[in-house]
Amino acid sequence: MSAIHFPGAIQVEVKRPLMFLILLNPHSGKGHAHALFNGNVQGMLQDAGIQHTLIITERQNHARELVREADLSQWDALVIMSGDGLLFEVVNGLMEREDWEEAIQTPLGVLPGGSGNALAASIHHYSGLQAVSSEELLISCGFILCKGLVSQLDLTSVCLASSQRLFSFLSLAWGFVADVDIESEKYRHVGAARFTVGTMVRLASPRVYRGKLAYLPIEDPMSQPSLVDSTQSNPSPLSVFGPTDFLLNPLNQPVPGHWTVVQDEDFVLVVAMYQSHLAKDMLAAPASRLDDGIIHLIYVKAGISRRSLLRLFLAMENGGHLNTNCPHVVYVKVKALRLEPYSPKGIITVDGELVDYGPVQAQIHGSLARLIAG
Ligand code: ADP
Ligand code: MG
Repeated sequence: MSAIHFPGAIQVEVKRPLMFLILLNPHSGKGHAHALFNGNVQGMLQDAGIQHTLIITERQNHARELVREADLSQWDALVIMSGDGLLFEVVNGLMEREDWEEAIQTPLGVLPGGSGNALAASIHHYSGLQAVSSEELLISCGFILCKGLVSQLDLTSVCLASSQRLFSFLSLAWGFVADVDIESEKYRHVGAARFTVGTMVRLASPRVYRGKLAYLPIEDPMSQPSLVDSTQSNPSPLSVFGPTDFLLNPLNQPVPGHWTVVQDEDFVLVVAMYQSHLAKDMLAAPASRLDDGIIHLIYVKAGISRRSLLRLFLAMENGGHLNTNCPHVVYVKVKALRLEPYSPKGIITVDGELVDYGPVQAQIHGSLARLIAG
């Protein structure tokens, strides 16, 4: 392997010839992923001297189970051709292995074939490229894959009330954004535009979401691992494998006293992100980078007018929403957070996937995984 130095990041080129395992969800996006792969990517890989085995997933969690059991030594990278949901399966399948520490170091790759391709859009954005159409984004990500430069990728561990612990590469969302993500499933036939359609529909009748939000800001000296009591037990006892969430208290205990507790309890949305894009046309956290070790927490307080909210979503397309001086929008950089919704029913998403609703907390683990990017 040869090291290549880029400003701000060290990337490592994977050896050649390369052997990729490509997992493709045939139902992702508008349902054309397989044809898009054959038409746009297959020849490109061949020209780059990359061999691959293609597996078409047959059902949800097929990919998760497969990577949990697979002999990973035969692959130079695990590539998903789908939306963010299939990568979420792969990341969690790897973290469920006894050898998780080594398994999660397998380089991952993304080819946008879904309707929610936020990580692919983020990688494209980090390369300094302008926003493009869905098919151009696929070709751009195909080139990135062929270059084979491996970067570090942050993962965030997300603890649910059920004691389940998940690993997330993209986002944790509650309120407007989470509702749109799930409600817009019915507009899947329009592809990536389903989020725009869903946003417009929900804007017609915005809701208020009540709950308690607390976080650990990055400036807090206690956010450094060396200053935390390392004898503290893992707050998620049912999760056998993975790193210790040394910043978190168990969910049934109060958050540590030095955390910031948000006084407002009425929200329109709360979204914690660790990459720049929330969807292809939503540059929600422009400052975010692959492995900055930061959770970019953005919340919108209730009381915002429908017009301001519309303006906010329109500005998000190019990342301008954080410069609108809207008093209802708050942006903080954090290492960990906890959210306790008051309503008995609702929607919480992790990487765009529906998870158990209820109290939830998260901590970022810097550079836990590796991703072909840049
Ligand atoms: P999209 O962006 O189009 O929603 P995703 O990759 O997010 O695409 O996939 C959507 C959902 O489909 C995810 O929950 C994923 O786990 C699931 N899934 C993966 N493979 C299959 C399959 N073969 N059949 C049905 N669902 C699948
Ligand atoms: Mg999805």
